[in-house]
Amino acid sequence: MPRYTSFGQSDVGRVRKHNEDAFIIDDSLGLYVVADGLGGHAAGEVASEEAVYNIRGWVRRERPKVESLITDPYDVDQQNVAEQILRGAIQAATYLIHSMAEFDETKAGMGTTTSVLMLLGRVAVIGQVGDSRIYLARDGQIAQITDDHTLIAAQIREGMLTPEEARYAPHRNVITRAVGSHEYVEVDTRVVETIPGDRFLLCSDGLHGYVEEPDEILPILSLPVDQVCQRLIDIANTRGGKDNITAIVVEVHEV
Ligand code: CA
Repeated sequence: MPRYTSFGQSDVGRVRKHNEDAFIIDDSLGLYVVADGLGGHAAGEVASEEAVYNIRGWVRRERPKVESLITDPYDVDQQNVAEQILRGAIQAATYLIHSMAEFDETKAGMGTTTSVLMLLGRVAVIGQVGDSRIYLARDGQIAQITDDHTLIAAQIREGMLTPEEARYAPHRNVITRAVGSHEYVEVDTRVVETIPGDRFLLCSDGLHGYVEEPDEILPILSLPVDQVCQRLIDIANTRGGKDNITAIVVEVHEV
């Protein structure tokens, strides 16, 4: 029995000509990444593709250092190393994408969000930059386990906007951190313990912008793994599909 079952899908949406989202699913590596590229002239596509490709390469090389978490999930030192691996992977991608943009003026200012999930047995390690999201569904409940790095999220945290006001704010899409916009990026990481039956959803804002209520996501996330993404993409497209739409669902099995 495999440790994880996953399915990923990306859709250009109903308005845009290009899909600047990228994703990877790699069950053998326990690695799942969504990236949502920013920048004109197809530069966003380059940034998101480079990000997922480089993060996978870095994790493939570094993951053996923390493989012991599969048998000893409570080793805090090893958990810290696992978080460092994701910070290193995302920072390396940042440096590379920023350098590419420096040397090619058609790619100036390109960047990408990235939401990364690395599974090691009962340990889930999360890395986050930007406004793509990861949700965790367990025992009939769902929670967003990443923070959005957006102006709006910051204003809500500071009490300047209510979530209701934020829904109609004009600058909803302004993100405060991106991979590649600068030479360095501050990466959020966290460790979450998993139990069999947990389901993760990784998605770009082309999805969660249209399916905003986690309670609406929950019953869909309970469908067979290979049906979840299409159902969510259909909803986003039905409601406008103004942006590219990407979803990955991962189910954790008994280790
Ligand atoms: Ca987007």
